Amino acid sequence: MRKGKFVPGDFRLKVKRSTAGLGLFALEEIPKGACIIEYVGRTISKAEEYTSNSKYLFEIHSRRTIDGTARTNTARYINHSCRPNAEPEIRKGRVFIMARRTIHSGEEIAYDYGKDYFNDHIKPYGCRCAKHKKM
Ligand SMILES: [Zn+2]
Repeated sequence: MRKGKFVPGDFRLKVKRSTAGLGLFALEEIPKGACIIEYVGRTISKAEEYTSNSKYLFEIHSRRTIDGTARTNTARYINHSCRPNAEPEIRKGRVFIMARRTIHSGEEIAYDYGKDYFNDHIKPYGCRCAKHKKM
């Protein structure tokens, strides 16, 4: 039987140093369209969201935000890229990181954090994604 689209494949991944602190890297080829990993964490309230200092908040919709701070949430190590090879997909209130294209062994996995996050938290410090570090 075929595995569901939103079941993370058992890909070998590794957290290691990247151009922007730690990053998550593929240790084997990940096919386009594959589910790489789930972004997991505790659901927090709006009130908590406003007072939280967490850098790992993932807003699913206006009433549900996941706090992915826990170290067991390996997906928190995935960095932003302006030319991403992965993208988050929301399915039934959960967040799955999917491969936008074939990701080769040794490549860093990255997705676009979105315009708001980029403007507030990345742009002021200079983007260090693979596209921008060479500029
Ligand atoms: Zn960039």
